[in-house]
Amino acid sequence: MKKRIGLLYGGKSAEHEVSLSTARAVTQALDFSEFDVFPIFITLNGEWRVGPQLTEAAQSIEQLQFTSTSEKSDNNIMQFISAHMANPFEVIFPLLHGTNGEDGTVQGFLEVLNIPYVGNGVLGSAAGMDKVTMKQLFEMAGLPQVPYVHFIRSEWESNKQGYTAKCEEALGYPMFVKPANLGSSVGISKASNATELERAVAFALQYDRKIVVEQGVTAREIELAVLGNDAPQVSVAGEIKPMTDFYDYDSKYKDGSTALIIPAPLEEQVYANLVDMAKKAFKAIDGAGLVRADFFVTENNEIFINEVNTLPGFTPVSMYPLLWQHTNVPYPELIKKLIALAVERHTEKQ
Ligand code: ADP
Ligand code: MG
Ligand code: MG
Repeated sequence: MKKRIGLLYGGKSAEHEVSLSTARAVTQALDFSEFDVFPIFITLNGEWRVGPQLTEAAQSIEQLQFTSTSEKSDNNIMQFISAHMANPFEVIFPLLHGTNGEDGTVQGFLEVLNIPYVGNGVLGSAAGMDKVTMKQLFEMAGLPQVPYVHFIRSEWESNKQGYTAKCEEALGYPMFVKPANLGSSVGISKASNATELERAVAFALQYDRKIVVEQGVTAREIELAVLGNDAPQVSVAGEIKPMTDFYDYDSKYKDGSTALIIPAPLEEQVYANLVDMAKKAFKAIDGAGLVRADFFVTENNEIFINEVNTLPGFTPVSMYPLLWQHTNVPYPELIKKLIALAVERHTEKQ
């Protein structure tokens, strides 16, 4: 029996375009003799559109962006629910990033509908999306991190000087200023003095009301892929070498100016520590299915966890799939494993 799977992509987020590329790549790797594949496109306005069954891989992103063919009422989330009621999806594969995608909201919606889905649950997704909450959980798990300060818009606006002083005292320059709830480096900038800090905070506030400011470190960026449910496996390590000042949005997705080195040259003990920490980080957020755990490793091999990503970049040339490819799990097999893990997790909960 073929499994009916729904690929959920697009979304009301700054990472809409990235999600479309991922969806195209996944259709190219899925075994159509094993799965009945349905595209579920969320427009930038948040309308859900269930497309007709895909019979072959999508050749272009445009093919996955259905134009509105019917009345508005048919294009909202009800269309998805009716499609599911008429013929239930057996697994949904969320390929969304950012707000409403990897933050637990869509996961909660799928829980309510009792549909198994790939990847992290509500708690893990929400915790992994909010950089402040994530840091607090890591702290409790004893994972080392760079010092940070956080605040919300109203706190900053009523006391800019106080928070600037607090950041200068606790962190020193350079600092990294980030919206708490985003990914793909959107809204992030580096500040080397008070004027830049103010500008960086104003910029980050365009994306979120909650801000985290971190001490900047000079370190290598090392990432590991975690795969599984209760007893997750960890991949080889990969290193990111951005050619720009830091790993910003353009170097991630546009200009290909970032080199990925897999496996990353690391002393055995350092790698072993990273594996241990990646598992702890997965557990700390109550991970399921997959996370990519990202670290800073300094010249003298001091390790800081930067973050986990609960729906990491997932095109065949993204770090997460490449790490598994180098750990003898090719992309099509990785997709199958993730689908199986989704079913396993759903069954265990029953
Ligand atoms: P995102 O979730 O958007 O990927 P990150 O926290 O990973 O956000 O930050 C994006 C990039 O910014 C990192 O990959 C790294 O290049 C740089 N960066 C972030 N925080 C720091 C820091 N504290 N010190 C040095 N570089 C940092
Ligand atoms: Mg991230
Ligand atoms: Mg990151």
